[in-house]
Amino acid sequence: MREKIRPRKCDRAAAPLAAIVHRNSQIAEVQSRWHRCIATLAPAAIRTVLIDYPPSAIGYRTMPTTVFTIANQKGGVGKTTTAVNLAAALAEKKIHTLLVDLDPQANATSAVGVEKQAGKSLYGPLRGEGSAVEMITPTAYEHLALIPSEEDLAAAEIELAQTENYLARLNTVLTPVRDSNGYRVIIIDCPPALGMLSMNSLVAADFLLIALQCEYLALEGLGQILRNVERLKSAHINDRLELGGIVMTMFDLRTNLSRQVVDEVKQHLPDKIFKTVIPRTVRLSEAPSFGKTIFAYDPANPGAAAYRQLGKEVIERFGLAKS
Ligand code: ATP
Ligand code: MG
Repeated sequence: MREKIRPRKCDRAAAPLAAIVHRNSQIAEVQSRWHRCIATLAPAAIRTVLIDYPPSAIGYRTMPTTVFTIANQKGGVGKTTTAVNLAAALAEKKIHTLLVDLDPQANATSAVGVEKQAGKSLYGPLRGEGSAVEMITPTAYEHLALIPSEEDLAAAEIELAQTENYLARLNTVLTPVRDSNGYRVIIIDCPPALGMLSMNSLVAADFLLIALQCEYLALEGLGQILRNVERLKSAHINDRLELGGIVMTMFDLRTNLSRQVVDEVKQHLPDKIFKTVIPRTVRLSEAPSFGKTIFAYDPANPGAAAYRQLGKEVIERFGLAKS
């Protein structure tokens, strides 16, 4: 059931949008204004817009939101770099994307140039205080919004275990965002552990994307996460979850090892590995310290070309262009 919101300050910010909606002008124009508007509104107003004037209210032929989680218990394998730049690549293609930073390290938050702020994360909503919609924050990038993270989220790892339905908390919290159809894609960036937060992301997701670094023992640990996917499915905790794909990261052209690792993954999971391989390039590692995606930092870099190509592959594989 849709929550009714009493008129507040934020409603005034959303009023021009309501006027557009009710003027019933050209649908395409209304739709594009809806998204331009939502990118510039304050978070409180975003809540009003998403709940009271969802795209369906403006005759939007909505497609369901597809939720991807980028998880791997191994640290430093390129999860965040992939979450941020894949999200940016989709946004570049005008696919409305919400990046959810579920890692208390908040690397994805700073990588898109948003400052960490106490109380601005899913920590509150996960413990039943406030909503995820209120946490949505615009970024400097068109079509790309963020639910940021901050240190408090670390406490959720422990506290979630003590709550009822502890595996489904994130799914519950993200349902209003999903149901609003305001975003075609949600991408969740996970911490480097298969703890409560990552497990919750697997329950909230349609597809798991795994970032694998092209290095010795890359496949180690893959079995563990895939077994978790199977367990969640067989226990009917998340029937729709599938392994969506494997992104090979930090490919080093100068070494045979990188090539061997890619070949090994191809042998084991030929249908799952993405054709696009992300090269190791120093510009990809520099971009986050400037709070920029690779497309804003160095659009001509091979890393940018690779993430753009990965974006195309993801759009094709999951039929995201139909929106
Ligand atoms: P964590 O497990 O700590 O969350 P992660 O899996 O999210 O790490 P990243 O933070 O994306 O991994 O990457 C780890 C480090 O490697 C970062 O310093 C990042 O800038 C760098 N890095 C990621 N991808 C590349 C790449 N293709 N080329 C060069 N450096 C990269
Ligand atoms: Mg990370």
